[in-house]
Amino acid sequence: MELTLSRSANPMTPSTPLPIPSDQLAASHAAPLLRVEGLTSAYGRIQALKGISLELRGGETVALVGANGAGKTTFLRCLSGVQPISGGRILFDGEDISALRADKRMRRGICQSPEGRQVFGPLSIEDNLRLGAYTQPRQQVAGDLERVYGLFPVLAEKRRLPAGTLSGGQQQMLAIGRALMGRPRLLLLDEPSMGLAPLLVEEVFAVVRALKAEGMSIVLAEQNAFAALALADRGYVLETGTVALEGSGTELIGNEQVRSAYLGM
Ligand code: ATP
Repeated sequence: MELTLSRSANPMTPSTPLPIPSDQLAASHAAPLLRVEGLTSAYGRIQALKGISLELRGGETVALVGANGAGKTTFLRCLSGVQPISGGRILFDGEDISALRADKRMRRGICQSPEGRQVFGPLSIEDNLRLGAYTQPRQQVAGDLERVYGLFPVLAEKRRLPAGTLSGGQQQMLAIGRALMGRPRLLLLDEPSMGLAPLLVEEVFAVVRALKAEGMSIVLAEQNAFAALALADRGYVLETGTVALEGSGTELIGNEQVRSAYLGM
């Protein structure tokens, strides 16, 4: 069964329904939706993750912050299954998915908006969005496209144009929209504000806040630590492949170490 929630939390767009799996909301007091235990991963001799443990309950937004090279992207890629892990395990909804292929994880509802957007420039915006729905039954795609267009009206206007003609900010919206077409139970957002002008950064964070307000479960990796922690329920500070600190978003924003190292305060 699905709940239909309103998008009215997004000040930029009209209210548009987007189906959110109801278990995501009901699970907030149950076992974690995502539990990562001692995750390690390497690129050859470079040990990128050295034992990361993390939890996310249904409906939570968890922020991953840290400097360049701390391991945020590698961690998200391990979750979506495109980066192999060398140790530890990943439990999703109680199931050990550590050895599951990326496409099967996507079918279970783990959908990623990757760093650098990675949209397919020569394909139309609509075809890019359709690619995000390749695991979904055909009959729901038209409705889901309209919902994504409701969230990102600029994509609706340009739906027939090649994605390569979009600005960086619009491509970011397309990357998020493509991930939403997979009907995520867990949405992975990798640096959604990277390289965007301040006004567009605010637009992208407004959309993330709207998704969160609807009860979507989100892991948000961001170098814009203040904005990410301000909207997150909890945050993890990564340093050279380890968790240096964890706490609620508010706690981390108030932490002296975090303030001087990541918030420039
Ligand atoms: P950024 O914001 O710069 O992407 P990050 O926190 O996401 O940083 P990762 O990209 O996960 O960090 O990088 C973690 C470590 O793994 C770094 O030491 C990085 O140099 C290394 N690394 C990442 N990708 C590769 C790769 N394809 N080949 C070799 N080393 C890599």
